[in-house]
Amino acid sequence: MHFYTKMRSNMTTIFRVLVLALLLVGCATQAPNPSPSNDLRPQKKAKNVILLIGDGMGLTQISAGLYMNNNRLELERMPIVGLHKPYASNSLVTDSAAGATAFACGVKTYNGAIGVDPDTVAIETILEEAEQRGLATGLVATSTIVHATPASFIAHEKSRTMYEDIAADFLDTEIDFFVGGGKKFFDRRESDDRNIYAELEEKGYLVSDYFKRNLKRVNPDYTRNFAYFTADADPLPVSQGRDYLKPASKMAADFLNKRDTDNKGFFLMIEGSQIDWGGHANDSDYIVTEMIDFDSAIGAILDFAEKDGETLVVVTADHETGGFAINPGSNFGRIEPAFTSDYHTAALIPVFAYGPGSELFAGIYENIDIYTKMRRALGFEK
Ligand code: MG
Ligand code: ZN
Repeated sequence: MHFYTKMRSNMTTIFRVLVLALLLVGCATQAPNPSPSNDLRPQKKAKNVILLIGDGMGLTQISAGLYMNNNRLELERMPIVGLHKPYASNSLVTDSAAGATAFACGVKTYNGAIGVDPDTVAIETILEEAEQRGLATGLVATSTIVHATPASFIAHEKSRTMYEDIAADFLDTEIDFFVGGGKKFFDRRESDDRNIYAELEEKGYLVSDYFKRNLKRVNPDYTRNFAYFTADADPLPVSQGRDYLKPASKMAADFLNKRDTDNKGFFLMIEGSQIDWGGHANDSDYIVTEMIDFDSAIGAILDFAEKDGETLVVVTADHETGGFAINPGSNFGRIEPAFTSDYHTAALIPVFAYGPGSELFAGIYENIDIYTKMRRALGFEK
């Protein structure tokens, strides 16, 4: 071989090796690994989907709730279990905004993103698509309703802290039912003089709040959309008297089922928001009480789904919070907690499913695949 040709061939080889190395590094940190479960098709279509998100509810949070609740959780009624990979586009450790946007929009995005992709482009959410297709839709949360998790299903903002912009986004979708805190972001705004509470009423919503009457005394009118604010800002922890998650969840399912007059179905997201806050506080009692409260809402929804027979119920979390562990010396009814962090961790997250299409949720897959599987179960995919 001529010297010049040989040198060029060596250079080409070095170049190829470098490109391959770069690709491998890229794959190792980011590229989703397609799951065999992505090829499954539902045996039977679901008319309704109810997604329950326990914010910060890793496997240890579930275990702690179980051991502190006489070795019993409603979650155990769900026959299908899988695991999802919760990482965000810019970080192995996700936040709740990127986590919920993955479920709502099917895109991995950056931490803090609300219903937008890594380029801050708005992506239609499964709730918006359901509304477009004529299904009834709803959101229930034990945080403010403009907090990252519920917001990612209805709003499109580049940052989760833009609470008043997120509140205004509630007027862009004909959501039928929502219950959560954060009244002040609607009716006592700092960024403008708008009153979104009044604007919702003008749009035909029946709007009420904790200050006017207890949610249990409110009779929603199924011919109108319904909004209820449970607090001015953050709702209380359940240990300090908050008591609406289970009744609001039951009310949401019954309401949407009746509101769905042309029998197209409904999409409902329910969040146990404060399991995460217990994790951030490294407070095991806070985690356990919120976990058990969330579990009681799961029980009410499973009762509805058992009777209904056409409802897919999916329970999961966006991420784990606290690096929570149950240490030696623990017993049923009295656990020895330990924590590695006051932030989220990157552990795989359990997914539980019940009802038509539930078989799609077995296996290990990306968090964005939960979006795809829910759409597939609903028959939204062609
Ligand atoms: Mg949340
Ligand atoms: Zn958190």
